[in-house]
Amino acid sequence: MDRVAVITGGSRGIGRATALAAAARGWRVCIGYAGNEAAAHAVVAEIEGGNGAAMAVRCDVASETDILALFAAADGFGPLGALVNNAGVVDATARLEDMSAARLQRMMTINVVGSLLCAREAVRRMSTRHGGQGGVIVNLSSAAARLGSANTYVDYAASKGAIDTFTRGLADEVAAEGIRVTGVRPGLIDTEIHGSGGDPDRAHRLSVNVPMRRVGTADEIANAIVWLMSDEASYVTGSILDVSGGR
Ligand code: NAP
Repeated sequence: MDRVAVITGGSRGIGRATALAAAARGWRVCIGYAGNEAAAHAVVAEIEGGNGAAMAVRCDVASETDILALFAAADGFGPLGALVNNAGVVDATARLEDMSAARLQRMMTINVVGSLLCAREAVRRMSTRHGGQGGVIVNLSSAAARLGSANTYVDYAASKGAIDTFTRGLADEVAAEGIRVTGVRPGLIDTEIHGSGGDPDRAHRLSVNVPMRRVGTADEIANAIVWLMSDEASYVTGSILDVSGGR
Protein backbone atom coordinates (compact mmCIF):
# COMPACT_ATOMS: atom_id res chain seq x y z
CA MET A 1 0.00 0.00 0.00
CA ASP A 2 1.31 3.47 -0.85
CA ARG A 3 -1.26 5.36 1.17
CA VAL A 4 -0.54 7.50 4.19
CA ALA A 5 -2.36 7.44 7.51
CA VAL A 6 -2.06 10.60 9.62
CA ILE A 7 -2.45 9.82 13.33
CA THR A 8 -2.55 12.80 15.69
CA GLY A 9 -1.10 12.17 19.13
CA GLY A 10 0.72 9.13 17.79
CA SER A 11 3.65 9.25 20.19
CA ARG A 12 2.03 7.58 23.20
CA GLY A 13 -0.97 5.57 24.37
CA ILE A 14 -3.74 4.69 21.93
CA GLY A 15 -2.17 6.76 19.13
CA ARG A 16 1.13 4.90 19.45
CA ALA A 17 -0.60 1.51 19.43
CA THR A 18 -2.61 2.58 16.38
CA ALA A 19 0.52 3.72 14.55
CA LEU A 20 2.18 0.34 15.13
CA ALA A 21 -0.94 -1.61 14.13
CA ALA A 22 -1.52 0.51 11.00
CA ALA A 23 2.10 0.10 9.91
CA ALA A 24 1.78 -3.66 10.40
CA ARG A 25 -1.18 -3.55 7.99
CA GLY A 26 0.93 -1.72 5.41
CA TRP A 27 -0.03 1.91 5.98
CA ARG A 28 2.67 4.55 5.63
CA VAL A 29 2.26 6.26 8.99
CA CYS A 30 2.66 9.96 9.72
CA ILE A 31 2.29 10.65 13.43
CA GLY A 32 1.81 13.98 15.12
CA TYR A 33 2.95 14.65 18.66
CA ALA A 34 2.58 17.61 21.03
CA GLY A 35 6.02 17.79 22.63
CA ASN A 36 7.41 14.38 23.47
CA GLU A 37 9.92 14.12 20.63
CA ALA A 38 11.74 11.13 22.12
CA ALA A 39 8.54 9.08 22.33
CA ALA A 40 7.58 10.06 18.78
CA HIS A 41 10.96 9.10 17.39
CA ALA A 42 10.84 5.80 19.27
CA VAL A 43 7.56 4.95 17.49
CA VAL A 44 9.10 5.80 14.11
CA ALA A 45 12.18 3.69 14.90
CA GLU A 46 10.03 0.74 15.98
CA ILE A 47 8.01 0.89 12.74
CA GLU A 48 11.11 1.28 10.58
CA GLY A 49 12.73 -1.61 12.47
CA GLY A 50 9.84 -3.77 11.26
CA ASN A 51 10.41 -2.57 7.69
CA GLY A 52 7.45 -0.19 7.83
CA ALA A 53 7.42 3.46 6.79
CA ALA A 54 6.84 6.18 9.35
CA MET A 55 7.57 9.82 10.06
CA ALA A 56 6.86 12.14 12.98
CA VAL A 57 5.92 15.81 12.96
CA ARG A 58 5.48 18.05 15.99
CA CYS A 59 1.87 19.20 15.82
CA ASP A 60 -0.10 20.74 18.66
CA VAL A 61 -3.67 20.37 17.39
CA ALA A 62 -4.56 23.57 19.24
CA SER A 63 -2.63 25.36 16.48
CA GLU A 64 -4.04 25.60 12.96
CA THR A 65 -0.53 26.47 11.74
CA ASP A 66 0.81 23.21 13.20
CA ILE A 67 -2.04 21.24 11.62
CA LEU A 68 -1.36 22.74 8.19
CA ALA A 69 2.33 21.84 8.60
CA LEU A 70 1.46 18.26 9.63
CA PHE A 71 -0.64 17.69 6.52
CA ALA A 72 1.90 19.41 4.27
CA ALA A 73 4.57 17.04 5.59
CA ALA A 74 2.25 14.07 5.07
CA ASP A 75 1.68 15.19 1.45
CA GLY A 76 5.38 14.66 0.85
CA PHE A 77 5.12 11.10 2.21
CA GLY A 78 2.39 9.84 -0.15
CA PRO A 79 -1.31 10.18 -0.94
CA LEU A 80 -3.47 10.52 2.15
CA GLY A 81 -5.77 7.56 2.78
CA ALA A 82 -6.70 7.88 6.45
CA LEU A 83 -6.84 10.27 9.37
CA VAL A 84 -7.07 9.11 12.97
CA ASN A 85 -8.20 12.05 15.09
CA ASN A 86 -6.66 10.70 18.28
CA ALA A 87 -4.98 13.65 20.06
CA GLY A 88 -7.01 14.56 23.11
CA VAL A 89 -6.66 15.73 26.69
CA VAL A 90 -8.43 15.52 30.02
CA ASP A 91 -8.00 17.90 32.94
CA ALA A 92 -8.06 17.66 36.72
CA THR A 93 -11.14 16.24 38.41
CA ALA A 94 -13.49 19.11 39.15
CA ARG A 95 -17.12 20.16 39.27
CA LEU A 96 -18.28 22.62 36.60
CA GLU A 97 -18.67 25.44 39.12
CA ASP A 98 -14.89 25.33 39.69
CA MET A 99 -13.80 25.28 36.03
CA SER A 100 -12.19 28.40 34.54
CA ALA A 101 -12.96 29.75 31.09
CA ALA A 102 -9.32 29.08 30.15
CA ARG A 103 -9.71 25.40 31.02
CA LEU A 104 -12.93 25.07 29.01
CA GLN A 105 -11.41 26.83 26.02
CA ARG A 106 -8.32 24.59 26.08
CA MET A 107 -10.48 21.48 26.28
CA MET A 108 -12.67 22.48 23.34
CA THR A 109 -9.77 23.86 21.27
CA ILE A 110 -7.73 20.64 21.47
CA ASN A 111 -10.46 17.98 21.56
CA VAL A 112 -13.06 19.54 19.25
CA VAL A 113 -11.63 22.34 17.08
CA GLY A 114 -8.38 20.43 16.53
CA SER A 115 -10.29 17.37 15.32
CA LEU A 116 -12.52 19.45 13.04
CA LEU A 117 -9.52 21.21 11.48
CA CYS A 118 -7.66 17.93 10.91
CA ALA A 119 -10.79 16.46 9.31
CA ARG A 120 -11.09 19.53 7.11
CA GLU A 121 -7.55 19.02 5.83
CA ALA A 122 -8.22 15.31 5.26
CA VAL A 123 -11.43 15.98 3.31
CA ARG A 124 -9.64 18.54 1.14
CA ARG A 125 -7.18 15.81 0.16
CA MET A 126 -9.30 12.63 0.09
CA SER A 127 -12.68 13.75 -1.28
CA THR A 128 -13.39 12.83 -4.90
CA ARG A 129 -14.99 16.28 -5.07
CA HIS A 130 -11.45 17.67 -4.78
CA GLY A 131 -9.83 15.08 -7.06
CA GLY A 132 -8.89 12.72 -4.23
CA GLN A 133 -9.17 8.93 -4.10
CA GLY A 134 -11.43 8.70 -1.04
CA GLY A 135 -10.36 7.48 2.37
CA VAL A 136 -11.41 7.10 5.98
CA ILE A 137 -11.51 9.23 9.10
CA VAL A 138 -11.62 7.64 12.57
CA ASN A 139 -12.48 9.97 15.43
CA LEU A 140 -11.58 9.12 19.04
CA SER A 141 -14.61 9.72 21.19
CA SER A 142 -15.07 8.27 24.69
CA ALA A 143 -17.61 6.38 26.76
CA ALA A 144 -17.72 9.72 28.61
CA ALA A 145 -19.83 11.07 25.72
CA ARG A 146 -22.60 8.67 26.83
CA LEU A 147 -21.97 8.78 30.58
CA GLY A 148 -21.40 12.54 31.07
CA SER A 149 -18.58 12.21 33.65
CA ALA A 150 -20.40 13.98 36.49
CA ASN A 151 -18.10 15.13 39.32
CA THR A 152 -15.05 14.27 37.22
CA TYR A 153 -14.92 16.31 34.00
CA VAL A 154 -18.18 17.18 32.29
CA ASP A 155 -16.17 19.47 29.99
CA TYR A 156 -14.23 16.49 28.62
CA ALA A 157 -17.44 14.46 28.24
CA ALA A 158 -19.08 17.34 26.38
CA SER A 159 -16.08 17.62 24.05
CA LYS A 160 -16.50 13.93 23.18
CA GLY A 161 -20.25 14.40 22.71
CA ALA A 162 -19.32 16.99 20.08
CA ILE A 163 -17.04 14.41 18.44
CA ASP A 164 -19.95 11.96 18.17
CA THR A 165 -22.20 14.54 16.52
CA PHE A 166 -19.43 15.66 14.19
CA THR A 167 -18.76 12.03 13.21
CA ARG A 168 -22.42 11.52 12.25
CA GLY A 169 -22.72 14.78 10.35
CA LEU A 170 -19.44 14.64 8.44
CA ALA A 171 -20.09 11.00 7.52
CA ASP A 172 -23.29 12.03 5.76
CA GLU A 173 -21.62 15.07 4.20
CA VAL A 174 -18.83 13.13 2.47
CA ALA A 175 -20.31 9.63 2.08
CA ALA A 176 -20.87 10.07 -1.66
CA GLU A 177 -17.32 11.43 -2.08
CA GLY A 178 -15.50 8.22 -1.16
CA ILE A 179 -14.81 9.08 2.47
CA ARG A 180 -16.03 7.01 5.42
CA VAL A 181 -16.17 8.78 8.79
CA THR A 182 -16.35 6.60 11.88
CA GLY A 183 -15.70 6.81 15.60
CA VAL A 184 -14.48 4.70 18.48
CA ARG A 185 -15.65 5.19 22.06
CA PRO A 186 -13.01 3.67 24.35
CA GLY A 187 -13.91 2.88 27.93
CA LEU A 188 -11.30 2.85 30.70
CA ILE A 189 -7.99 2.24 28.93
CA ASP A 190 -4.61 1.77 30.57
CA THR A 191 -2.65 4.81 29.30
CA GLU A 192 -0.91 7.85 30.78
CA ILE A 193 -3.90 10.14 30.12
CA HIS A 194 -5.27 9.47 33.62
CA GLY A 195 -1.99 10.63 35.20
CA SER A 196 -2.08 13.75 33.05
CA GLY A 197 -5.41 14.56 34.74
CA GLY A 198 -3.73 14.09 38.15
CA ASP A 199 -5.29 10.67 38.87
CA PRO A 200 -2.99 7.95 37.48
CA ASP A 201 -4.91 5.13 39.22
CA ARG A 202 -8.32 6.24 37.89
CA ALA A 203 -8.84 3.55 35.25
CA HIS A 204 -7.83 0.66 37.51
CA ARG A 205 -9.85 1.99 40.46
CA LEU A 206 -13.04 2.34 38.40
CA SER A 207 -12.58 -0.95 36.55
CA VAL A 208 -14.55 -2.82 39.25
CA ASN A 209 -17.66 -1.17 37.74
CA VAL A 210 -16.86 -2.36 34.20
CA PRO A 211 -18.98 -5.40 33.25
CA MET A 212 -15.79 -7.21 32.13
CA ARG A 213 -14.14 -6.16 35.45
CA ARG A 214 -10.93 -4.88 33.88
CA VAL A 215 -9.38 -1.94 32.06
CA GLY A 216 -8.76 -2.15 28.34
CA THR A 217 -5.40 -1.92 26.61
CA ALA A 218 -4.29 0.57 23.98
CA ASP A 219 -3.86 -2.37 21.60
CA GLU A 220 -7.52 -3.34 22.02
CA ILE A 221 -8.55 0.15 20.86
CA ALA A 222 -5.96 0.18 18.06
CA ASN A 223 -7.33 -3.12 16.72
CA ALA A 224 -10.79 -1.56 16.38
CA ILE A 225 -9.36 1.56 14.74
CA VAL A 226 -7.32 -0.29 12.11
CA TRP A 227 -10.32 -2.47 11.30
CA LEU A 228 -12.42 0.66 10.71
CA MET A 229 -9.58 1.99 8.51
CA SER A 230 -9.54 -1.19 6.43
CA ASP A 231 -11.55 -2.38 3.45
CA GLU A 232 -13.08 -4.96 5.79
CA ALA A 233 -15.19 -2.04 7.03
CA SER A 234 -16.01 -0.79 3.53
CA TYR A 235 -19.77 -0.40 4.22
CA VAL A 236 -19.31 1.22 7.66
CA THR A 237 -19.77 4.97 7.93
CA GLY A 238 -21.33 7.24 10.53
CA SER A 239 -20.96 4.43 13.07
CA ILE A 240 -19.34 4.83 16.47
CA LEU A 241 -18.01 1.63 17.97
CA ASP A 242 -18.02 1.17 21.76
CA VAL A 243 -14.83 -0.61 22.84
CA SER A 244 -15.38 -0.47 26.56
CA GLY A 245 -15.71 -3.92 28.12
CA GLY A 246 -19.45 -3.35 28.29
CA ARG A 247 -19.23 -0.03 30.17
P1 NAP B 1 -2.27 9.75 26.24
O1 NAP B 1 -1.74 8.43 26.67
O2 NAP B 1 -2.32 10.88 27.22
O3 NAP B 1 -1.49 10.21 24.91
C1 NAP B 1 -1.84 11.43 24.38
C2 NAP B 1 -1.21 11.59 23.01
O4 NAP B 1 -1.76 12.79 22.44
C3 NAP B 1 0.29 11.78 23.06
O5 NAP B 1 0.83 11.26 21.88
C4 NAP B 1 0.42 13.29 23.13
O6 NAP B 1 1.65 13.76 22.56
C5 NAP B 1 -0.72 13.73 22.26
N1 NAP B 1 -1.24 15.05 22.57
C6 NAP B 1 -1.61 15.56 23.76
N2 NAP B 1 -2.02 16.83 23.62
C7 NAP B 1 -1.90 17.13 22.33
C8 NAP B 1 -2.11 18.29 21.55
N3 NAP B 1 -2.55 19.44 22.10
N4 NAP B 1 -1.86 18.24 20.23
C9 NAP B 1 -1.40 17.11 19.66
N5 NAP B 1 -1.16 15.98 20.33
C10 NAP B 1 -1.41 16.00 21.64
O7 NAP B 1 -3.80 9.60 25.73
P2 NAP B 1 -4.64 8.28 25.34
O8 NAP B 1 -5.20 7.69 26.57
O9 NAP B 1 -3.88 7.45 24.42
O10 NAP B 1 -5.89 8.95 24.57
C11 NAP B 1 -5.94 9.07 23.18
C12 NAP B 1 -7.37 9.45 22.80
O11 NAP B 1 -8.27 8.47 23.30
C13 NAP B 1 -7.82 10.80 23.36
O12 NAP B 1 -8.62 11.47 22.41
C14 NAP B 1 -8.67 10.39 24.55
O13 NAP B 1 -9.63 11.35 24.88
C15 NAP B 1 -9.29 9.11 24.05
N6 NAP B 1 -9.75 8.24 25.12
C16 NAP B 1 -8.88 7.70 26.01
C17 NAP B 1 -9.37 6.89 27.03
C18 NAP B 1 -8.48 6.26 28.07
O14 NAP B 1 -9.01 5.72 29.08
N7 NAP B 1 -7.16 6.29 27.92
C19 NAP B 1 -10.75 6.64 27.14
C20 NAP B 1 -11.59 7.22 26.21
C21 NAP B 1 -11.10 8.01 25.21
P3 NAP B 1 3.03 13.89 23.46
O15 NAP B 1 3.52 12.48 23.63
O16 NAP B 1 3.91 14.72 22.61
O17 NAP B 1 2.63 14.52 24.75
